[in-house]
Amino acid sequence: MKHFDEQAWSQYIHEQLPPSELSEMEQHLYGCDDCLALYMICMEQMTATLPYMDIEEHKYVDDVLARTMGTKRSRYRSTMLHYGIAAAATLILVATGFFHGLSQELGPRSALQPAPPTELKIDQPISDKLLNRTLSWLDTLQNK
Ligand SMILES: [Zn+2]
Repeated sequence: MKHFDEQAWSQYIHEQLPPSELSEMEQHLYGCDDCLALYMICMEQMTATLPYMDIEEHKYVDDVLARTMGTKRSRYRSTMLHYGIAAAATLILVATGFFHGLSQELGPRSALQPAPPTELKIDQPISDKLLNRTLSWLDTLQNK
């Protein structure tokens, strides 16, 4: 006698098999206690888990979708925001001569280094310009 496994019975319960097979299995149920027991187990599992799974699965998928889409978007946005803030802060610090104030503090030490200021002029013209501005600002302070 041909028996059916648990998967087959769950398919039977969900009517996921052709009608001829379903009726064959139904007939088998009447004559086979083992398969009837298996069928009962499947029925219990299905009724216990399926309604819950149906609702929760949809909710879960929606949640996951909303969460992944949301975080992706907001994470991207906040990254751009942080880049923007960092760029703006750097620009402000450069414009206010913050870095050149620092380089002035390091002045005596860098003065000992062999690199001449003309080389700086070639490599970093913008920072050199700012450095000159800072130097002239320091000169005006010293002249007071
Ligand atoms: Zn059987």
